Order: sequence, then structure tokens, then C-alpha cells
Amino acid sequence: MTLPLREELASVQPYGAPQLDVPVRLNVNENPYPPAPAVIKSVLEGVAEVLPTMNRYPDRDFMELRAALANYLYEEAGVTVEKERIWAANGSNEVMLHLLQAYAGEGRTLLSFAPTYSMYHEYARDTGTNWVAGTRAADFKLDFNHVEAEIERTRPSILVLASPNNPTGTALTLEEARLLADLTRGSGPVIGGAPTDTVLVIDEAYGEFRREGTPSALTLLDEYPHVVVSRTMSKAFGMAGLRLGYFAAAREIVDHVMRVRLPYHLSATTQAVALAALSHSKELMSQVAHMRATRDNLVIWLRSKGLDVADSDANFVLFGKFADRERVFAQLLDRGVLIRVVGPEGYLRVSVGTDEEDARFRAALEEVL
Ligand SMILES: *Cc1c(COP(=O)(O)O)cnc(C)c1O
Repeated sequence: MTLPLREELASVQPYGAPQLDVPVRLNVNENPYPPAPAVIKSVLEGVAEVLPTMNRYPDRDFMELRAALANYLYEEAGVTVEKERIWAANGSNEVMLHLLQAYAGEGRTLLSFAPTYSMYHEYARDTGTNWVAGTRAADFKLDFNHVEAEIERTRPSILVLASPNNPTGTALTLEEARLLADLTRGSGPVIGGAPTDTVLVIDEAYGEFRREGTPSALTLLDEYPHVVVSRTMSKAFGMAGLRLGYFAAAREIVDHVMRVRLPYHLSATTQAVALAALSHSKELMSQVAHMRATRDNLVIWLRSKGLDVADSDANFVLFGKFADRERVFAQLLDRGVLIRVVGPEGYLRVSVGTDEEDARFRAALEEVL
């Protein structure tokens, strides 16, 4: 080796689920329905409007998009957040990276509870942050004695919890989220002799799929200025190809992440496409309701086959338990159905597809079982 690659990257493989060209792709939790013709028309008009000024850098602070995202959060969760309290970047992955760049790094800790999203570990590694993953209970919910002990032991700069959690589908109740917000007050690193708060990030990438009666953690923001709720247009919104994620939080947190963002990080086309897509959010919500129903039926069906299936508030289902999950995965793939080997040993994850994809997945699994 003659290049000065950081030692911690020496044996690392670039992250990513297989991108295979098979008929039924249910492995990365995308919305399976392509954008409607009316959405495509709006997007084309929006992009046409910005093209004549493409010689200029884009609007650095993208206030129009932040206002549209705030408006969407009001429609979706009934919570009012001023546009100045919204931040966005190229996917919620970049939003998270901004948070780590501002609050974590050398000598600081990012805490989460596994099984959970494998990217959290990578953000920590890439920012030189100490990564600590506690565990979840057998039903994938949090054990609050363990959570409290880990917070006290590690004094994390950031505690990140996906709700609904990937790959288990487990959502936090509002009471649990509130308890976490209480536990993270004054539990962060001691700076200048005084304890700081741990930034509590609730990653609601799958928030729109939560079941009736589970409020969004957005409702806690006004009460807890150290809480961040992140969202994305990649999942429910059906715009994974766009790369647009965002969070809502206190103004101070937005002010802090602005110090680390790259110049003009959101391109003019990204802003235009996101704005155009957001203008169709109402139609999208009815599609999400359909996917939720598909998910609930899928859980019931998998259980009827005698499988162990985690309760899901997301657009995917974790099921098992297989003595050889790699075999089940491969035999489904032979039948043109791509799912994901992820989560605890013996389990597989399948994303909610279109009605036709759902039927093909079930037919293939019946053959394999
Ligand atoms: C898919 C996913 C995201 C979304 O990432 P984007 O960068 O917005 O596409 C974020 N968090 C979790 C837990 C996810 O599963």
C-alpha cells in the first residue's frame, strides 16, 4: 500500500444493497409505484423554469423548499414548524452526516440500539466518532433500563433511533420518545465544566407508514429543543432517485449544521424537482394508505404460514426464522424476487411492493417454504 488510506478503511467494502435487474425488487424499501404523469409534468415544468439560470449557483438557503417541506409536515403530521427550523440535504443520509459533523467527531460518541440501520455506524466511522450500539429486547422494542444505563455510561453527543426502525419495523410510542427526550437532557459530553444535552435524532424515514394512533415525534419539538426529527422523500414520497432528506428541529440546531454544509449543496434541479413533487403530496398520501394496507395483509399472511413476523409500522416486514436464510433468499432470487438478507440471524426483510409484486413474492415464497 503506497497511498495514505485511513487505517480504519483498510478492510471496508463500499456499502450498498445489490442492484440487480430482476422482475420483482423488494430489497431497499422504495415506493414501488413510479411517479404519476401529473407529477412528471409538474417536475418538467419546474426544471424548465430553473434551466435558464443554470450558469448561476443555486439558492444556498433554499427557503422556498424549506417552506414547502414545513407545509408538508403540517399536512402529514398536523405539526407547525417554521421554515427556519427545517434543514435539507441530498438524502437524510447527508442530513445525518451534517449532524455528526456539527456535534460528533474525535472523542465523542454516537449511540444507537441494534438491530438498526447499518449506515449509522458508517457515519460514525467517517467522522472519527466512537460508535456504541446497545441492544434491543426480543420483540425489538427498547429496554429503558438498558437505554438509561448506556446513556449514562457513554454520555453520547448524539443518540439516533429510527422510528419506525429499519430493519425491524418497530415504532417508538410517543411516551417512549418523550422518555428518551427526558433521558437525554444534560446527558451529553461535559464542555467547559458543564454537561450538554445529547442531541436526540428520531429518524422517521418511514414515518408516513406508521399505524393509526402512533403520533410523529414532531409533536415533541417545541418542548424539547435538543430533539431532531429527520424525514426523507426517498421512501413514502416515492422519490428515492431525487436524493432529498430533511429534518425539523430548533433554530439553533439548523444554525449549527449550516456551519458544516458544503457550499451550494442542494442543486437547483434538486430544489425544483422536490418543490414540484411536494405540490402533489395529497395524491401521494392515498397511495401510502394503500401500501399500509398491503403491509398489514402481508404480516397476517406470513404469520398464517407459521413464520415469526415482527410488528411493522414501516413499508417492509422482517420475517423468519430460517435455519438457512441465505438459501431462502437465493431461491426467491431464482424466481425473480429480490429481497434482503438483513437483521438478526435467521431473518429476512421484504419491502411492500405493488399488488402484483406482492402476489409474486407470496407465490415464490410458498414454493420455497
Ligand atoms: C432508507 C433510510 C433512510 C433514507 O435515506 P435517504 O438518504 O434519505 O435516501 C434513512 N434512514 C433509514 C433508517 C432508512 O432506512
